[in-house]
Amino acid sequence: MLLTLYKSALRPIEVKALLKLKIRGNRYAPPGEPLETLAGKLDDKAFCYAALAKVSRSFAVVIQQLPEKLKDPVCVFYLVLRALDTVEDDMQLPLDKKLLLLESFHEKLEDEKFFLEGVGDHNDYRVLLKNYPKVTRMFKTLDKNSRRTIIQITAEMGKGMADFSQKEIETLADFDLYCHYVAGLVGIGLSGLFVASGLEKLSLNHRGRRSNAMGLFLQKTNIIRDYHEDLYADRTFWPGEIWRQYASNLDDFAKAPESENALACLNRMVTDALRHIPDCMDYLGQIQDEKIFRFTAIPQVMAIATLAKLYNNHRVLRGVVKVRKGLAARLMVYNVDLNKVHAYFEKGLRQIEKKCKNGTPYGAETKKQIASIRSEIKKHSRKI
Ligand code: MG
Repeated sequence: MLLTLYKSALRPIEVKALLKLKIRGNRYAPPGEPLETLAGKLDDKAFCYAALAKVSRSFAVVIQQLPEKLKDPVCVFYLVLRALDTVEDDMQLPLDKKLLLLESFHEKLEDEKFFLEGVGDHNDYRVLLKNYPKVTRMFKTLDKNSRRTIIQITAEMGKGMADFSQKEIETLADFDLYCHYVAGLVGIGLSGLFVASGLEKLSLNHRGRRSNAMGLFLQKTNIIRDYHEDLYADRTFWPGEIWRQYASNLDDFAKAPESENALACLNRMVTDALRHIPDCMDYLGQIQDEKIFRFTAIPQVMAIATLAKLYNNHRVLRGVVKVRKGLAARLMVYNVDLNKVHAYFEKGLRQIEKKCKNGTPYGAETKKQIASIRSEIKKHSRKI
């Protein structure tokens, strides 16, 4: 906390927001007792929220900002996908067993007896899977449309994860498809839940490319930021079609992060992620409910701020680069509307543009991409 405050010290509005959020965060702090103990004494709903607070504290805080009738569906949706991802990430699980589980995971929502023991590389994840009947019973209390959305997304994601546990992300099309499975589908599912709640209109086009783009933009940002961490965990998400143009092994960039090739590849990855911005802006422009707007817009603003920081930044290739927590706090505490979101995006694009000087690897291409994004956003906002 102290270090976080220090980093935001020249931005008093962020310091204020951080302190406010600290108070709010304490209200939703994860229960002190282990999840295992809580599972023995909490009812289904209380267990689900306790599990959410344990597996993702930040999401547990953000979910509290949603309209009341969306909290339960989004909480269950998150836990089901977390459980599915736990199966995908468990490297001890034999492949044939894993594939079977991934492909049938959506059916388990209809089976109150289903649970797994000893699966998961984190204790809270293992407890979640061991107590999965609590999630299934909570799922049963949701309305029909929300249930249908959750089952459908889980089925598609499970199938996609199974496909990709047997192949590498090689082409740019593979990269977009993988990100669609693990994140685009989350965007599509959330849109489905927003529409099911009656708070958003069907025109949100919840099967469409705009919901998908919301997930892709966030996922690609994380994949670029986590290059170093993933490399050492033996995971590769950067598409070969891109990085092979600059190196013979992906870890060459970590060995020479300041080389022209390493930066060209990094900048090209960021430029590719920027491509989704016009669709994200269109999506946000369609959201009617103020609370849903905040819930969907904040991660996007954090992503553009992160990309601006990652661009042409060799430190990404040899460690962790993070965005100030103060910005997140400021966004969560103070009002955010479409104009402000546009301004944050414009600021991020300007910061990237400033880094595209003569001689910046891939800089000329990035500048072109930014110009085309600006003209697309302009064209679309005129339509709205
Ligand atoms: Mg995973």
